[in-house]
Amino acid sequence: MRPGGRSHEVVIVGGGVIGCSIAYHLARRGQAVTVLERGKACAEASAAAAGMLGAQSEMEDTGPLFQWARRSRAMFPQLAEELKAITGIDIGLVREGLLNVAFSDVQEAELRAREKLQRAAGEQADWLSAAAAARLEPALSQAVRGALYLPDDGQVEAPLLAQAFVQAARQLGANVQEFAQVQGLLTEQGRAIGVMTSDGPLYSDCVIVASGAWSGQLLAGIGVKLPVYPVKGECFSVLTPKPVLRKTLFTPGCYIVPKAGGRLLVGATVVPGSYDRKVSLAGLAELLDRAKQLMPAIGEAEWEKAWSGLRPQTPDGLPYIGKVPAVEGLYAACGHYRNGILLSPITGKVMAELVLGGAGEQGAVSQLELIFEPSRKELHIIEAAH
Ligand SMILES: Cc1cc2nc3c(=O)[nH]c(=O)nc-3n(C[C@H](O)[C@H](O)[C@H](O)COP(=O)(O)OP(=O)(O)OC[C@H]3O[C@@H](n4cnc5c(N)ncnc54)[C@H](O)[C@@H]3O)c2cc1C
Repeated sequence: MRPGGRSHEVVIVGGGVIGCSIAYHLARRGQAVTVLERGKACAEASAAAAGMLGAQSEMEDTGPLFQWARRSRAMFPQLAEELKAITGIDIGLVREGLLNVAFSDVQEAELRAREKLQRAAGEQADWLSAAAAARLEPALSQAVRGALYLPDDGQVEAPLLAQAFVQAARQLGANVQEFAQVQGLLTEQGRAIGVMTSDGPLYSDCVIVASGAWSGQLLAGIGVKLPVYPVKGECFSVLTPKPVLRKTLFTPGCYIVPKAGGRLLVGATVVPGSYDRKVSLAGLAELLDRAKQLMPAIGEAEWEKAWSGLRPQTPDGLPYIGKVPAVEGLYAACGHYRNGILLSPITGKVMAELVLGGAGEQGAVSQLELIFEPSRKELHIIEAAH
């Protein structure tokens, strides 16, 4: 214990779905862990998310992020049971699949190419004519060219998943402190020794930065450049008297996700570079136009609410997950952009294994260290982790 401060073994900065998944996985392995969240836990991007598990719909190639994503998607059924058993929270896992819809020749060609790629990678993906797609989802617009049906891209209730991680981590012994702002990272001779909070220093053997779109700011304070930036996304939801969709409808610039009780979640705008979370009427109007193109009857639904969140993005679109080079004991897990809900189980598991010394998935540790290399775009961060 250092003079003037408390000592903790692992401190996680940020109580979003990523920080709380890591805390859950560490606590499950018996590790003492403290999460410091400057506001309410899981009230930022993790509460705003639509909850799609778009391992196939979100990935344009079958590169490292796709491999990472499909492994994470496969973890959900067991995770849902575990979290339910510990907390009683049902994360709302629905495995009805997704229709990735084309309106033009160009979109059709792109989706048919993706069908080939994903089938070659062993995934299920089926191109459907407009008529076949309409048989699956009669509310779909008649203007569609067809759709790529991805039966394994499910969804969860993102805010419930995030809450379940917080609660499960707490029940397993993690100390989740809300309204605890971290003002800076503390280092000594190339080692992380803790964090500075509004209540003074808090020392620890290991610090994990999982602060979403704000991660780069904290690391910049100790001279580490991690270019994570915010991309605002606005959403709205409407209610229908009875369920009108079973599968998620997805097209560039808009998706409609059917939730329990006839609720439809419509997202999302893409506004890079701003920490402003205001919901703009222009953004909502644009979304509504696109949603009506996908499903004309949505115009008759009852308004529920609108909201926004800040996706943490990186210049090459890959998240930063692993040890921060040159600072012993310092780790980062951030930059999950549009897929932090999908990627939260695997990020939590692998980070816990990394911090605890690499037990678990063979190869994961050395591969994760590599993703901080400048040339990481060419690196296959996951393949060697099987
Ligand atoms: C509109 C929208 C729709 C989305 N839809 C999907 C989807 O369908 N599927 C999917 O997989 N993903 C989706 N995402 C992406 C997903 O929400 C994010 O990738 C994920 O929530 C990121 O989690 P996080 O924990 O890194 O960040 P956050 O949830 O933002 O959490 C970071 C936390 O760190 C805290 N923090 C920051 N700085 C400090 C500090 N100095 N001290 C203490 N605490 C601090 C913040 O208060 C915050 O609570 C969507 C995002 C948005 C905005």
